[in-house]
Amino acid sequence: MYENKIFEDKLKKLEKEKLLRQETVYEYSHDVEYISDGKVLINFSSNSYLGMHRDSRIIKASKEAVEAMGTSSIASRLVCGTLPIHAELEKKIAQWKGSEAAMVLNSGFQANLGIIQALANKDSLILADKLVHASIIDGIRLSNAKFQRFHHNDMDSLNRLLERYSDIEHKIIISETVFSMDGDKAPLEGLIKLSKKHGAFLYLDDAHGAGVYGSKGRGPTAEVEGVDLLLGTFSKAFGSFGAYACMSETLKKYLVNSCRSYIYSTALPPAVIAANLKAVELLDQQEYESKQKMLIERCSRVRDVLKNKGYKVVDGEGPIIAIIIGEEHAALQKSKELLVKGFLVPAIRPPTVPKGTSRLRLTLSSLHSDKQVKYLLNLF
Ligand code: PMP
Repeated sequence: MYENKIFEDKLKKLEKEKLLRQETVYEYSHDVEYISDGKVLINFSSNSYLGMHRDSRIIKASKEAVEAMGTSSIASRLVCGTLPIHAELEKKIAQWKGSEAAMVLNSGFQANLGIIQALANKDSLILADKLVHASIIDGIRLSNAKFQRFHHNDMDSLNRLLERYSDIEHKIIISETVFSMDGDKAPLEGLIKLSKKHGAFLYLDDAHGAGVYGSKGRGPTAEVEGVDLLLGTFSKAFGSFGAYACMSETLKKYLVNSCRSYIYSTALPPAVIAANLKAVELLDQQEYESKQKMLIERCSRVRDVLKNKGYKVVDGEGPIIAIIIGEEHAALQKSKELLVKGFLVPAIRPPTVPKGTSRLRLTLSSLHSDKQVKYLLNLF
């Protein structure tokens, strides 16, 4: 048996620093209600911003697909795992976003890992926003590219780096449209302008923008004009699983031949693809328009109430509301207090966020009732 002392010591260190994470089992009860340890909790931490994971039309499409095609796609995409619905979903995504082509990948994490690794090599330079998601950082590491971060949403900082490294031909700028732990938006016009000015490839992760914002829920980048690769996930507003990337036909051909997480992993199963397809169709038909509008209005009201009560809330428009507390211990304490009252609002701590910026990450869904939101706000 392997001696586990090394890992035990690491765990002890995490515990001492109050950074040890543990999983809790949450049993689904109804809409946003979950049960843990026999206690009903109102969930203010999910990414299903529109409650699409409970949409009966999507559930029906998923059930029908599993009945018709079975539980697996039985191979990776390039072997024999591409079923007609995979192709249909890619076509639908491209039409919905107005891109030349789209690729469906197995998860947002896998997509960032595989695509970034395929796009860059040791001769490339990647400039990424300071707050990009862990999967982007890991993709950059895998690529072996030179890597610099620019200050969060700071276009002067990005411009300075682009000028400093002007001799490097292959430059990639990476950012997110809506930041996952802060809920603020990136300055898209500035990013597009700088990528054009310096001839850099622009890569945007729209995981938290798609579905929620813009006409037909197409995200802050309604069309992909000026963006070389736009990544989205089905795991947030779409209430499902998997990812997509919008790009040119040429780039798609290249990635089909080089993106390792696409080539070497079993394709998403029919039930998941059918759910994703139905979700995009519903967004495209504007079936969710009133929910999107109601959600954005609610987010703005909640931000205002929290700010008026003296809380430090990151500016934004959408359903990720970051309430900065500061120290890990204080954030954990507030989260526990809310839990005792029946509300699930997690504390997010380093290393997920920078030290000293521990926070409560409150996410709103159109499934919450006004009463539930009001009760929660009364506890602040
Ligand atoms: N990118 C961003 C910005 C994310 O927030 C996440 C999920 N937290 C991912 C990628 C990974 O997506 P998935 O859950 O589909 O793997």
